[in-house]
Amino acid sequence: MPESRLKVKLLEHTPNPLETIALSARLCYSDSDIDSLYDKSKGTAEEFVKRLMNFGHLSPIEHASYTFGIEGVSRALLAQITRHRIASFSVQSQRYVKQGAEGFNYIIPEKVRELGEEKRFIEQMNTLSEWYSEWIELGLVAEDARFVLPNAAETRMVLTMKARELLHFFSLRRCNRAQLEFRKLS
Ligand SMILES: Cc1cc2nc3c(=O)[nH]c(=O)nc-3n(C[C@H](O)[C@H](O)[C@H](O)COP(=O)(O)OP(=O)(O)OC[C@H]3O[C@@H](n4cnc5c(N)ncnc54)[C@H](O)[C@@H]3O)c2cc1C
Repeated sequence: MPESRLKVKLLEHTPNPLETIALSARLCYSDSDIDSLYDKSKGTAEEFVKRLMNFGHLSPIEHASYTFGIEGVSRALLAQITRHRIASFSVQSQRYVKQGAEGFNYIIPEKVRELGEEKRFIEQMNTLSEWYSEWIELGLVAEDARFVLPNAAETRMVLTMKARELLHFFSLRRCNRAQLEFRKLS
C-alpha cells in the first residue's frame, strides 16, 4: 500500500513581485505618476523593499501572491494549515475520491521511523484500508466509508498566500514548537 512523500511546487506567482511591491509603496510617499514610479522601481526594487520591511510598512507586500501545489501531507496537517484564514485552499476530497485499489495513501511520521516501527505502522494502515473496503462492499459511499480513515491519510491541495501571510505563516510554522511535518512543509 502506498506511502506518500512531501512535495511542494511553486505553481505561479505575481509577475515581478518586487517591482509591484516597490511601486505600491513608493506611490504612498510620492507625487509622481504610476508610469514614472514603475520605471523607478526597475533595478532598485529589492533594496527598497528591504528598507520597507525594516520600518514595518507591510501592507504593500500584499500585492504579491504565491500559489503552491502540495502533495504527500497528512489530514492532520490539513486540519492545522486551514486555520490560516487569510490563505486560499482547494483540497482533494475524500467524499468524491475513493481510496485506490492498493488502499489509501498515507504519511509515516518521522518519529515512527526513529523508533524502528515502520512495519507495525504499515500493518495498522493496511487494517484500516481493509475496514474502508469492507464498508464500501457493504454499500457505504466514500463520504461515509472515510470515517474509518486516520489522520495519517494523505491529502493534496493548492494553496495561495499573499507574501504578507506567508511571512506570518513562516513565523509560526518554522518555529521549533510547530509539528515536524508542518515545519518541513514550511
Ligand atoms: C505551535 C502551534 C500550536 C497550536 N496549537 C493549537 C491548539 O492546540 N488548538 C487550536 O485551536 N489551535 C492551535 N494552533 C493554531 C493557532 O491558534 C492559529 O489558529 C493558527 O496558527 C493560525 O494563526 P493566525 O490566526 O494568526 O493566522 P491567520 O488565520 O492566517 O491570520 C493571520 C492574521 O490575521 C489576523 N486575523 C485573521 N482573522 C482574524 C479575525 N477573524 N479577527 C481578527 N484578526 C484576524 C490576525 O492578526 C492573524 O494573526 C496552534 C498553532 C501553532 C503554531
